[in-house]
Amino acid sequence: MSKVELIFNKHKGGKSCGITPPAGVPEPPALPAELLRESLDLPDVSETELVRHYTALSKKTFGVDDGFYPLGSCTMKYNPKINEKMAALPGFAASHPYLDEDLVQGNLRLLKELQDYLCAITGFGAFTLQPAAGAHGELTGLMMMKAWFASKGEKRTKIICPDSSHGTNPASVTMCGFVPAPLASDPDGLVDLKALEALMDEDTAGMMLTNPNTLGLFEKDIVEICRIVHAKGGLMYCDGANANAVLGVSRFADMGYDICHLNLHKTFSTPHGGGGPGAGPVGVTAALAPFLPGPVAAEEKGVYALKTPEKSIGRVKGFNGNFGVLVRAYTYIRSLGAAGLKATGINAVLNANYMRSRLEKHFHLAYPGLCKHEFVLDDTRLPNGITTMDIAKRLLDYGYHPPTIYFPLIVHGAMMIEPTETEHKDTLDRFIETMISILKEAEDDPETLRKAPLTTVVSRLDEVQAARKPVICFCSGE
Ligand SMILES: *Cc1c(COP(=O)(O)O)cnc(C)c1O
Repeated sequence: MSKVELIFNKHKGGKSCGITPPAGVPEPPALPAELLRESLDLPDVSETELVRHYTALSKKTFGVDDGFYPLGSCTMKYNPKINEKMAALPGFAASHPYLDEDLVQGNLRLLKELQDYLCAITGFGAFTLQPAAGAHGELTGLMMMKAWFASKGEKRTKIICPDSSHGTNPASVTMCGFVPAPLASDPDGLVDLKALEALMDEDTAGMMLTNPNTLGLFEKDIVEICRIVHAKGGLMYCDGANANAVLGVSRFADMGYDICHLNLHKTFSTPHGGGGPGAGPVGVTAALAPFLPGPVAAEEKGVYALKTPEKSIGRVKGFNGNFGVLVRAYTYIRSLGAAGLKATGINAVLNANYMRSRLEKHFHLAYPGLCKHEFVLDDTRLPNGITTMDIAKRLLDYGYHPPTIYFPLIVHGAMMIEPTETEHKDTLDRFIETMISILKEAEDDPETLRKAPLTTVVSRLDEVQAARKPVICFCSGE
């Protein structure tokens, strides 16, 4: 694979071309000297060079449309192209958010129906579509918890987060002004009921719990967990970012949860990666519905309107959230229908268990037994000092995006694999065979494996340096 040269290296004064004629608009008055830059350091390149540069860069990327992308706790599944077609319809893509409600009845109806579908899927009483991501949904849900306790004249300070939880959970807890109370998992990777009982008190606002959890395991005691938290007046928050496994099969509200967020950009098939845009709608029980951020879409006698709930925590995002993402999720739900959504859940679990049962003959499975939509291998059986990182890097040479590695933190050298329901058995088999062949290489030729990847533009990067001292600006001539 060839490298793409920095665009700054193509800089040469006078190369850029201006094809637009002078506009005839008078020059604006000069800016004060202290506001002027000495140099902008923008490269001077021709239009052709510019287009070729970015086209070349766009080919160096990897996404679900390039190949298998088994990232655990991330649900990188196929994004049906019909979603894009619908989101691009001018009535959706070009309508201005300030248009009068009577001119955008169709758009408001889509919002209302999507809220209703998400209620039906999760069992909750009401939804907000505003949050722009999963983490944003978490913050929104926690703000509602805070408002709920304030309305009862209570001030609670802690939120319980299991040690297997996604990093955004304790981060959102802290951001919202609560203190995370970590809860150790039991030897089976599940919530330890005795430890929970000991930790839960009347200073604790509630618990954030993913189900299936980030080890891909279903919290079978979820009803009892909710009972323990509710008994002390707490609320149960479900991180439903990856809800594939339960789609159409079980519902968060029925399990006893009070609040959940869903990642439309994971479970409901909108493209993600590279930072968005996404959508992390939040669903709540009828008791919490008055606290939802405003506005939410409502319908009365066939007329659709935006309404702000009476005790609303206020806005969390401009207008109606990332509307294009909502159109994609709506299209996905409508094109699958109830039976299709259920098949999604069943196939997500089937695919994960097929891969698990074949790979556990070669790699060590962190938590034995049936999994849900994902499973976690560890580095226990890797020979010759080969690490999880070596395996992940070698996968790049075979055209795969590696699984999530070194997460959850409670598994040493974790490889967390989520195949998703949209992959064919042939793809799963090819990936499994590749994993087995890499393991053989670990035995026969560990030195080569330690140098992988061998076919990419760059090989082993200094990841610590990249995180600590990122180079975010190149200046011409350097
Ligand atoms: C992805 C994910 C999140 C965060 O979602 P973002 O949209 O990236 O903010 C939270 N929890 C879990 C379990 C996730 O997988």
